Amino acid sequence: MEKKLYIATAIPYVNGTPHIGNALDYLIADIWTRYQKQNGHDVRFQVGTDEHGNKIAVKAAELGMTPKAYTDSSYVNFEALMKKVGTSYTDFVRTTDEHHVASVQYIWEKLQPFMYKGSYTGWYCVGHEAFFTDKEVQATNGVCPDHQTPYQQVSEDNYFFKTSAFTDHIRTALNDGIMQIYPEFRKLEFLELIKDGLVDVSVSRPKKNLTWGIPVPGDPDQIMYVWLDALANYITVLGYPDRPEWQEYWPADVQVIGKDILRFHAGIWPAMLIGLGLPLPKKLLAHGFVNIGGAKISKTVGNVIDPNEIIDTYGLDAFRYFFSRHIPTLDDGDFTWEKFEDAYNNELGNDLGNLIQRVASMIIKYQAGVIGESQQTEHDMSAYHAAMDGLEFNKAIDEVWNMVRSLNQYIDNVKPWDVAKGIGKDTEAEPHLAEILAHCAGALIQIGDLLVPFLPTAATKIQDIFESGVVKLPEGVLFPKVYIHTTDPRAPKA
Ligand SMILES: [Zn+2]
Repeated sequence: MEKKLYIATAIPYVNGTPHIGNALDYLIADIWTRYQKQNGHDVRFQVGTDEHGNKIAVKAAELGMTPKAYTDSSYVNFEALMKKVGTSYTDFVRTTDEHHVASVQYIWEKLQPFMYKGSYTGWYCVGHEAFFTDKEVQATNGVCPDHQTPYQQVSEDNYFFKTSAFTDHIRTALNDGIMQIYPEFRKLEFLELIKDGLVDVSVSRPKKNLTWGIPVPGDPDQIMYVWLDALANYITVLGYPDRPEWQEYWPADVQVIGKDILRFHAGIWPAMLIGLGLPLPKKLLAHGFVNIGGAKISKTVGNVIDPNEIIDTYGLDAFRYFFSRHIPTLDDGDFTWEKFEDAYNNELGNDLGNLIQRVASMIIKYQAGVIGESQQTEHDMSAYHAAMDGLEFNKAIDEVWNMVRSLNQYIDNVKPWDVAKGIGKDTEAEPHLAEILAHCAGALIQIGDLLVPFLPTAATKIQDIFESGVVKLPEGVLFPKVYIHTTDPRAPKA
């Protein structure tokens, strides 16, 4: 039996405001999912929210709510963003789900041979809910660079998970490509990080220091550390261990994460899986951060951009277009409103929108909408498919735009409107024009197919216009121009 496909995304803490980094996780996973479905695969696509931990308990207390009531009221913000970016997910996991809680307790018991109780003193970042080594703390002058807060020295009795026992196994899996990290340079960084071996991790905290979490089975004084609980979601959501269908989907084909949490996903998570006797995820896709005009996004600086605002102003396809093409899938990228708007007006509006309009109008004008037969063969898209398989979606959509540009160029060169002038005078003119326009329509249908993973709405419109063989012009303009942030001197004055 062929294994069915599975893609998973990192689950954000439910206490934050959904941001552009979350939107990027969902978009990347959605592009992959739509591509695989288009190619006939059965795909499960997980999203979810991480609902345990001190930060959530603190936030709930501030609001005078129980933690559960608070998470019930806030997970919907993430669900709303997932829907807003057009995410075609199949499974939504909340770490407070009863099934998840019971499965994590099962996992805990199954990992007992690799656990021991010990006393731990270390540098803790409340924002990360994680301990950091002396080396890491020194390198950042005692302040977490992601949270801009000092690390705290914390000492307590915890259970430890013997991650160190799995170092060789994980290293071999990475070197042999059993578990691949995209991009390659992050794999090398991670191998360097673990060159002295993985360090055992604390997987529980005393109840007095951590109130809101999954209880450790058989030890009423201890609560599970949030990372073990959260990482388990990738299998519990599939039904592990009690619903056999999980076996049809695990191991994950791709796990989409931000580069800042790679070390947990390439270290602790594989160690847990090996301890459980399960195979490792095939690919970890670590995407970069979105900067704003070259600066890191920061609440303090106040340069936070809201994905909702982008989508409400320019439409969903515009959002998906910019973040799939102009933010490299495997590296950091840069956003400014000006860049965004120029890309929208010039590339979506002029390059693609006008092209569709132009071809459709000519077929209607010269041939009463009837698309003829084309002798020309389809464009070779092996570079597109190679980029999709290599998880470099920006390169794949670049290939589509090469096609869009060359089709515009083709029309400018052959000048169908000049060919049309010969009809009635030259017997060759009519079949020649029909051949040109059929080629254009055929190329647009192919472009529409290639855009299915990226711009589902535009792809459907292209199909609606051309696929029946008789052109149906859409109501209204595709990608109408927006001038709010433009630097284009041709823009109308407000
Ligand atoms: Zn931190």
